[in-house]
Amino acid sequence: MLPFKLVYSDRYYLPIGNHVFPAEKYRRIHDRLISTGVAAPEDFLEPQPASDQDILLVHKPEYVEKLRTGTLSQREEMEMEIPYSRELADAFWLAAGGSILAARRCLSDRVCISIGGGFHHAFPDHGEGFCMIHDVAVAIRRLQRDDQIRTAMTVDCDVHQGNGTAAIFAGTRTASALLPSSSASTVAQPRNAPRGKMRGAHAGDVFTISLHQHNNYPLWKPSSSIDVDLPDGTGDDDYLAWLDNALSSGLRQFEPELICYIAGADPYKEDQLGGLNLTIEGLKKRDELVFKVAQARNIPIMVTFAGGYARNIDDTVTIHSNTILAARDIYADP
Ligand SMILES: [Zn+2]
Repeated sequence: MLPFKLVYSDRYYLPIGNHVFPAEKYRRIHDRLISTGVAAPEDFLEPQPASDQDILLVHKPEYVEKLRTGTLSQREEMEMEIPYSRELADAFWLAAGGSILAARRCLSDRVCISIGGGFHHAFPDHGEGFCMIHDVAVAIRRLQRDDQIRTAMTVDCDVHQGNGTAAIFAGTRTASALLPSSSASTVAQPRNAPRGKMRGAHAGDVFTISLHQHNNYPLWKPSSSIDVDLPDGTGDDDYLAWLDNALSSGLRQFEPELICYIAGADPYKEDQLGGLNLTIEGLKKRDELVFKVAQARNIPIMVTFAGGYARNIDDTVTIHSNTILAARDIYADP
């Protein structure tokens, strides 16, 4: 039995047909965890779909209406890069519900992982890059609305920049929140910095960190609180140095009550949509680093899985399953 819960539903599956996004990965991760004895059925929590009211905490009413009635324009559907269906919308509502559940649950359990979600390219008024609804943003706003948290930090390690996250939380504040001091700062480069660039400025109640390949989608990268633009081919050691630096820098500036870790599998060297050079072992070290930092500072952490397009889907399943193993190692009861 795991020392934390996994949020999962067979209905996380995205009905998008033959697509580069391996929608069956969620079920395969679940099955792998069960067949290897890492998890037992009682380790899983079944999510409920988010309500429209939850979705509207982040998304514009006109956009939600189009999704509910199937009236996206052809251009809007093309930009989303996944074929609209009512069933697909339901899967995104469920992913958002799963992220709400994981965020809430980690407040008591220290960590909770949703085997889904991480749709960080969704904007308030449109979807793009395989993302219809920003489940993580919905979860943060719902917990803020319920007064369960005031502040949060997103740590986005998908190979693609978290443009939706950056846009949603850029300088935003919720009316009721007691605000941390906001700061606008330039981030110093670490001494002996590996190639890459860190930049940032922050204002608001959600601090956003994104580590991503610079020469990759999205072309337009709205500013996160900290963006680390990594050059093509960045390997394990440089990546981990940048991540360590970004986390230290972020947590010097901001004290979140919740960390939302977006654990994309696509910085992997065999990824079809990524150009970084991380190994499976390096990606597990990445996960361990994020969990260690959260645990050492006693900050609850929820995890979503985002992208992962390895040539061999088994590698994607392994990388995501390793995130659960990393959490198990770090959060094992003493
Ligand atoms: Zn990605």
